[in-house]
Amino acid sequence: MARKVLLISALAFLVVNLAEANERKNSEQPKADMNFLTDEILAGRKVGTNGEDASALYIKSRLESLGYEATIATFSIKDCWHAHETPVNGKNVLALLKGSGRKSEEVIVISAHFDGVGSSSMTFRPAADDNASGTVALLALAEKLKTRKWNRSILLAYFSGEEAAGCGSTAFSQSVSSDNFRWNINLDMVGRPRTSSLTVMMLTGNDDQSELVSVFQKAVKKTRLKLVLGKDLPEYPPWGWASDHRSFRDVGIPSVMVSDGNGSVIHGPQDVKETINFDYLNEATNLVFEALKRLDKR
Ligand SMILES: [Zn+2]
Repeated sequence: MARKVLLISALAFLVVNLAEANERKNSEQPKADMNFLTDEILAGRKVGTNGEDASALYIKSRLESLGYEATIATFSIKDCWHAHETPVNGKNVLALLKGSGRKSEEVIVISAHFDGVGSSSMTFRPAADDNASGTVALLALAEKLKTRKWNRSILLAYFSGEEAAGCGSTAFSQSVSSDNFRWNINLDMVGRPRTSSLTVMMLTGNDDQSELVSVFQKAVKKTRLKLVLGKDLPEYPPWGWASDHRSFRDVGIPSVMVSDGNGSVIHGPQDVKETINFDYLNEATNLVFEALKRLDKR
């Protein structure tokens, strides 16, 4: 199909899905978001494609339906990945929940990348766990955050270009001041536990983030999850920093990733929505919510 026809189909698909979203029960929404993001028409949501465009518009519309003012911020891959052959533009979706307390000038960033590695004409790679799951969880969290008042401001960042050297989050983190931005919590792969038990891993790079670690260790007690620190895993650190939280660390903003750590089928055709555990995904959302409540009190 020509690019224009594909874009029109993707947009029509978007309109139908958003209309249905208004009639849906809350408990069904994460599945509906997952269904949208992993549909074949979006071809795995690669940065710079129509699938990325339609995904960004979907996320923005969902946030607006929850009462947020959401913006799409464009970035250039060429700016962070000089060797990249073509100057592709990507799109981050951002929404701010303004704090109402004494520390409202301080910002906590919660992020998840919505882009995938993309598909070829022969192989569809739906990128369900990596990272439609984090995107879906962050949309659920956006709704939950509205149920209480926050001292600090919370920025929801749906990044693209994570699969292209993390260019979306790099562009973002280099544009902000680490003085106002206190912490980043990044969700990357929160839908497919490594074992049958509900286990979630929080990966940290070094000990100077003990503040975030201790907050999560307390928060996890309010969930049915078990927390494992990345540094305690045998395969760490090879991929412990392999996501958007690295872009925050690089500019001096303490960051962690919440992840299932299950890399067995990502970036391939088997990363499908049918193997996503929504009970687990929901608990990951609860974990971040509980951690935020504790962080916000500091
Ligand atoms: Zn990822």
